[in-house]
Amino acid sequence: MRKPLVAGNWKMHGSRNENAALIASIVQGTTGDDRVEIAVCPPFVYIADVVRGVKDSPIAVGAQNVCAEPVGAFTGEVAAAMLRDVGCRYVIVGHSERRHLYREDDALVARKFLAVQQQKMVPILCVGETLEEREQVATETVVARQLDAVLAVAGVNAFSGAVIAYEPVWAIGTGKNATPDQAQTVHAFIRGRLAREDAKIAGAIRILYGGSVKAANAGDLFGMPDVDGGLVGGASLNGEEFVKICGEG
Ligand code: PEP
Repeated sequence: MRKPLVAGNWKMHGSRNENAALIASIVQGTTGDDRVEIAVCPPFVYIADVVRGVKDSPIAVGAQNVCAEPVGAFTGEVAAAMLRDVGCRYVIVGHSERRHLYREDDALVARKFLAVQQQKMVPILCVGETLEEREQVATETVVARQLDAVLAVAGVNAFSGAVIAYEPVWAIGTGKNATPDQAQTVHAFIRGRLAREDAKIAGAIRILYGGSVKAANAGDLFGMPDVDGGLVGGASLNGEEFVKICGEG
């Protein structure tokens, strides 16, 4: 039985005051609900604060990005060991904004996945197609390419305990979510692709859906057999809304 995970990606939003209020409302609203695992991913500079803020709760903290290199002269970068040191449990790798705005390619994403996994944290590997790719019926080709790049570098065993987030690029921040059937089709494809390498790991891995998740659509999306929760952007900045989404997990 896979325990659902709902992770909030705060992107480049927040302040110390806003984060404290948001955390307080999430902690208060989710206390006692252990059916779902909850994580929040603030900007790097707030991670240590947020780790303190969730200290006596089961809420985990993640980062939104990581350097593929372990240590050294990489100005402006943050190493996986540092994220672990300040209390991160999860690290998002390959978010579409990183792939498209910062030109991160499959090979770099694969190295980041490995860096996170080697530090005994949980990578949340984002995959997903653009609207153009969907219209060209290339969704499975794109998602397979993104997955295979990580499999080639890290191997299937590195997926044990990892998390995958299917995030169609056309659904991120647009208010236009994939339908539950569209999500299920791609999630089943991802699980099947991993099952070709290792059926046990494929059966256990959590595959989140991301892209305009809100309280009103979370129940239908999370109710699909291969959807194990969500990666939530915009709606994770509103405590009440995020708590309702977690309640659908
Ligand atoms: C995201 O940033 O991962 C995301 C899914 O954003 P949104 O929920 O705003 O579409």
